[in-house]
Amino acid sequence: MTIAAHPLLTRARELADGLLSPAAERVDREGVPASHIEAVKRSGLLGVSAPVEYGGSAAPVAVVRETAEILAGACCSTWFVQTQHHTPVLTLARTALPVRERLLGPLARGELLSGVAYAHLRSHPRVPVRARRAADGWRFSGTVPWYTGWGLNDMLLLAGVTEDDEALFAFVEAREQPGLRPSEPMRLAALTASRTVSLDLDGLRVPEEAVALRVPFEEWAAADRPKTRNASPAVFGIAEAALKLVEEEYAAPVRARLGEVRRRAYELADHPLPGEHTEERLALRAEAFTLLRTATAAAVVAGGGRAMSLDHRAQRLAREGLFLLVQGQTGESRTAHLKRLAERHPAGG
Ligand SMILES: Cc1cc2nc3c(=O)[nH]c(=O)nc-3n(C[C@H](O)[C@H](O)[C@H](O)COP(=O)(O)OP(=O)(O)OC[C@H]3O[C@@H](n4cnc5c(N)ncnc54)[C@H](O)[C@@H]3O)c2cc1C
Repeated sequence: MTIAAHPLLTRARELADGLLSPAAERVDREGVPASHIEAVKRSGLLGVSAPVEYGGSAAPVAVVRETAEILAGACCSTWFVQTQHHTPVLTLARTALPVRERLLGPLARGELLSGVAYAHLRSHPRVPVRARRAADGWRFSGTVPWYTGWGLNDMLLLAGVTEDDEALFAFVEAREQPGLRPSEPMRLAALTASRTVSLDLDGLRVPEEAVALRVPFEEWAAADRPKTRNASPAVFGIAEAALKLVEEEYAAPVRARLGEVRRRAYELADHPLPGEHTEERLALRAEAFTLLRTATAAAVVAGGGRAMSLDHRAQRLAREGLFLLVQGQTGESRTAHLKRLAERHPAGG
């Protein structure tokens, strides 16, 4: 079977064209509705990377990327809420700890939706969230700066750093409870619809059997670092959606360059040694952002004054593009991106 004929791609297109895309401007203003989450749960897409024996599809990575492009291009907020789920699924698929048997099936089959709270680990040696040993498990304290999907998802994969400098990941029910208090949903330049909050943790009790991963921090960081260097499929999805709003004669050259960057970025993402070609990965990531900005600017220009209306697709895509600039950003990718932006305007050039 070719990738293009994979049933999950058909499902993603049906969901995108039949539900997500027509509602996207309304959702952007009003929030991702529970009915969108139900549709995503029913679609099978939450199990795209999950093992078949647990009810998932174990689809090739090319299918995973393309479903992300399709969903992000249709409704970035819905894509972003559901994309959090794939890290919990992969974490469970790789663990032999008891939580695997409790949660991998329900997550793979889309009966439960999980969010994540772990990007704060990347600010190490700062420790925004500490996990301390207790008699019956762990106590989490500190502040999670960003948690998407509050009120929409069922579970939360929460990460903290232990006193022995380990990264500890554990599953918690995503609801207010003693030791866990959410902020009000944040009002953001884009993706307010994703119901993103910060979480105040004050001795949150987490039993040992909820732990999904516990490894030395450096071991976790070494595996995590390469992931943040690759261009995100969502960038290509949103750029494509923006180019659809532009006359073909102007869209075509941008689309052609976007295709080249996408091909090479995905080749590198599939490279067996994720630690290699760091410079090129970061350069492609930055160039994908440049093309995204070009595409969304072209969509706004093509739309004229009406493009400023909150009902207009172009302004939504442009704001979502802004969000992608910082999503998953690390110190390394921040520096690389800023350097590329400065190089485009050399002094005296
Ligand atoms: C709307 C939204 C929703 C999100 N939802 C989630 C979620 O559900 N779960 C989750 O885990 N994460 C989530 N995130 C986090 C997201 O992935 C982070 O934005 C991303 O990891 C960047 O983190 P940051 O903004 O804290 O750091 P950035 O400011 O982007 O910095 C990245 C790194 O650069 C370095 N740095 C920053 N400023 C400076 C400076 N002035 N000088 C030198 N170095 C510097 C620091 O080392 C920092 O860690 C969300 C973010 C947003 C915006």
